[in-house]
Amino acid sequence: MVGGGQLARMTHEAGIPLGIRFRLLSDTPQDSAAQVVQDVRVGDYRDLATLRDFARGCDVITFDHEHVPVEHLRALEADGIPVRPGPDALVHAQDKGVMRARLTALGVPCPRHRIVADPADVRAFAEDEPGATGFPVVLKTVRGGYDGKGVWVVGSEAEAAEPFRAGVPVLAEEKVPFTRELAANVVRSPHGQAVAYPVVESVQVGGVCDTVIAPAPGLDPEAAARAQHLALTVARELDVVGHLAVELFETADGSVLVNELAMRPHNSGHWTQDGAVTSQFANHLRAVLDLPLGDPRPRAPWTVMANVLGGDYPDMYQGYLHCLARDPGLRVHMYGKDVKPGRKVGHVTTYGTDLAEVRERARHAADYLRGTITE
Ligand code: ADP
Repeated sequence: MVGGGQLARMTHEAGIPLGIRFRLLSDTPQDSAAQVVQDVRVGDYRDLATLRDFARGCDVITFDHEHVPVEHLRALEADGIPVRPGPDALVHAQDKGVMRARLTALGVPCPRHRIVADPADVRAFAEDEPGATGFPVVLKTVRGGYDGKGVWVVGSEAEAAEPFRAGVPVLAEEKVPFTRELAANVVRSPHGQAVAYPVVESVQVGGVCDTVIAPAPGLDPEAAARAQHLALTVARELDVVGHLAVELFETADGSVLVNELAMRPHNSGHWTQDGAVTSQFANHLRAVLDLPLGDPRPRAPWTVMANVLGGDYPDMYQGYLHCLARDPGLRVHMYGKDVKPGRKVGHVTTYGTDLAEVRERARHAADYLRGTITE
């Protein structure tokens, strides 16, 4: 697996029961996954020679992030190394412009969008064109964003200069008046087997995923099935192998628009570690190895995942005594990362039959570990 973050750490963990030998390409020996994987190579994933050296002897290459240049992936494929997901799929998760064009061609509902050249063009997009809804407009650099970095909401032409400074093409989108964010997560294998997890609600705070509720409360079963079909269609049409997260905006009339795609295990699927028969990490591995996929169904009526963000206390473990004693059903997943304010350093999950209770337990533990509450 290329990339040493927490997704690689948890994918490695899921491979242990299957006896999968796991090699990691990590930026540093301290990265979250590098702390726990035995066969670690430290190097730069942007360097083809490093990737080639890393890939030699591997049965398949997969990823904890989407940033490996596609030309390098094509070179690995030319060397005879299976790359899953492959470059032709992955480009849609790397480049928001390519993703929007392809989804629109497939008839998948997306926010109104177009690549814009400069602030004056942003104003034209906002005000002059058929279907224009005015300011505010969402601007995104087509590459390099994550957790809301690379996304701006601008209220006027004058505010629109900043995104163009990176020298990367800028995508303008209508600001969707969504009522909540959902995610439809699916896993697909090379020979075309696919499974769909229950559609979840993902609550974002400050552009960062805060809480995920599975299944999305109050979602009409037919709307949920449509969202699952949409994700399965995207996975098939884009020839995705492995886990695909389709982030969705739900609007007041109950319809959904696609926000973005992630082709790797995803924060909106962390709940599956404890709340589903087969986790996203186990199914991602099964898929990239072309093994039969596992049951995606939930183990309990409700599962809630809350991210643990770094707070003011560098020692997260001081909260264990309280949290573990208060809630013996609590599942804790910490990533071994240094605590920095606002950084995702772990998550907790809870499951059960009463959503309010399950949610309160997860919220309490995440807040206590962060240090925002003390009792
Ligand atoms: P990232 O790649 O950083 O995750 P996203 O494209 O997911 O960026 O955008 C981050 C957040 O910004 C979304 O979760 C959503 O809350 C908001 N956002 C993005 N695009 C739009 C849009 N077109 N309309 C309204 N809000 C948006």
